[in-house]
Amino acid sequence: MSSVRFAKVTKSYGGASPAVCDLTASIDEGELVVLVGPSGSGKSTALRMLAGLETPTAGELFIGDARVNDLPPAKRDVAMVFQDYALFPHMTARNNMAFGLKMQGTPRAEIASRVERAASLLGIAELLDRKPQQLSGGEQQRVALGRAIVRRPAVFLLDEPLANLDAQLRAGMRAELAELQRELAATMLYVTHDQVEAMTLGHRLVLLDRGVVQQIGPPMEVYRRP
Ligand code: ADP
Ligand code: ADP
Repeated sequence: MSSVRFAKVTKSYGGASPAVCDLTASIDEGELVVLVGPSGSGKSTALRMLAGLETPTAGELFIGDARVNDLPPAKRDVAMVFQDYALFPHMTARNNMAFGLKMQGTPRAEIASRVERAASLLGIAELLDRKPQQLSGGEQQRVALGRAIVRRPAVFLLDEPLANLDAQLRAGMRAELAELQRELAATMLYVTHDQVEAMTLGHRLVLLDRGVVQQIGPPMEVYRRP
């Protein structure tokens, strides 16, 4: 596990105002911080910079003690979970989960045991031989989470991971995610525009509006404000 720090980070795509403006925030080891705010407020951009999918225009990004501004995505000890799951359609759940570890050259036996363990943690042990189209949305999301978990990253980045699920499933997965985070003592940065998700999952929230931090604090504090 690692801490994460944004130090005066700005990202401009060249538009009139930057997507993220002078963001300073930190996430402690084992903490789940939720980035919340309306659509277009810069949440995804903040996450994508940490993953290395976007480069900051100014400022510094740290994972643990390492400055990662110039580190390629593959060298960053992070795993990202996307809203649309981004599973490989032609691969089984097992192979989807194993793929990243195979690329890293992890020994086969180690891969198998990590995949089994993650699958049982997520309640999908019976579904490992199915392909994504044979799985429900909630099951696909579990596979996507499993793919992140098996890598044992220092930091988990989740971009609206529950947004495509129906309301009932979303509520169930929310509780499961909270439990998973505790069990793994994982450092997580979680993006959502859903206030209920932010309130129930976040140890602390970072409220963004048009790229600018409005408030950082525990959920009750952030949402108490008129
Ligand atoms: P959020 O995740 O809060 O919806 P985003 O980070 O996706 O916000 O977007 C923040 C702002 O940056 C928006 O105005 C969006 O249109 C713009 N933006 C995001 N990605 C790009 C991109 N690749 N090119 C140009 N503008 C972008
Ligand atoms: P989210 O649902 O997370 O807010 P979006 O739907 O805004 O994400 O963006 C999806 C993808 O499109 C992202 O890769 C983002 O960088 C890109 N994007 C968002 N806004 C723009 C934009 N104005 N111009 C170009 N690309 C954009």
